[in-house]
Amino acid sequence: MKILISADIEGVAGVFHAEQTRPGNGEYERARRWMTEEANAAIRGAFAGGATDVLVNDSHGSFRNLLVDALDPRARYVLGKPRYLGMMAGLEQQCHGVMLLGYHSQAQGHGVLAHTINSFAFARVEINGQALGEAGLYGALAGEMGVPVLFGSGDDQFIAENKPHFACAQWVQTKLAYGHSSGLSLSPAEAQADIAEASERAVRDLGESTGMTAPVRSTLQAQDDCVDFQPFCIAAPISCQLTTQGPAFADLFCTLPMLVRTDGVTVQFVADSMQQTIRILNSLAAMSFMLR
Ligand SMILES: [Zn+2]
Repeated sequence: MKILISADIEGVAGVFHAEQTRPGNGEYERARRWMTEEANAAIRGAFAGGATDVLVNDSHGSFRNLLVDALDPRARYVLGKPRYLGMMAGLEQQCHGVMLLGYHSQAQGHGVLAHTINSFAFARVEINGQALGEAGLYGALAGEMGVPVLFGSGDDQFIAENKPHFACAQWVQTKLAYGHSSGLSLSPAEAQADIAEASERAVRDLGESTGMTAPVRSTLQAQDDCVDFQPFCIAAPISCQLTTQGPAFADLFCTLPMLVRTDGVTVQFVADSMQQTIRILNSLAAMSFMLR
């Protein structure tokens, strides 16, 4: 059973401020170590739950945050950018399940460090009329590839936003959001223990429900388990409406002929798949660097 762990940093226990997510300062160096330890906890849990192969995708910013020499040597790591599948790169290696570690809620919500793909340029992303954050967008990309989301960790807002999309997933609340840069956090050690335990349960449930591993628990416990790991799928064609952070972004993005402007700050496009949609969004995010 092959598992992909997509690891972001904003949902990691102890992380509340943008400075902790940007290279070039001591706060970031500490936060990336917590991120690395949460990844190790998830890897440990996944192997304990029956995974035979674990890939970890470094899914934040430059995609080069994990301290590679401090990571569990049993796993393999997807690092650096660009990559077509972004936060889901590695899934093309025929994974059976994906875990969203250290994730955050969508832009304009109440979550800690809430944003969607690019906080500088994107204010809101709607797919076929439904607002989605990174977990929803990338979860739908995984769904399109037939892979279910098994696990999510982050703040309470991230969990509330994404529970409806991912039936049967295990959730770890690393913190309670008071606002964009404040909240009540577990200690890193406690969060890591919870992550290891929930990852093990998630992977074991997947293995048992798909017949990839033999049941190890009593029938009574098994009755409480969710056995239907449906991938989160959004039917094509995909209509994407992107609210930008200002008219200059909409000006820039509409230089791509596939985009239509619907008002001063909003652009729209139609794509054949979630993969196309995410590749276009990531291309727009990359374009936005010229306005920095
Ligand atoms: Zn991030």
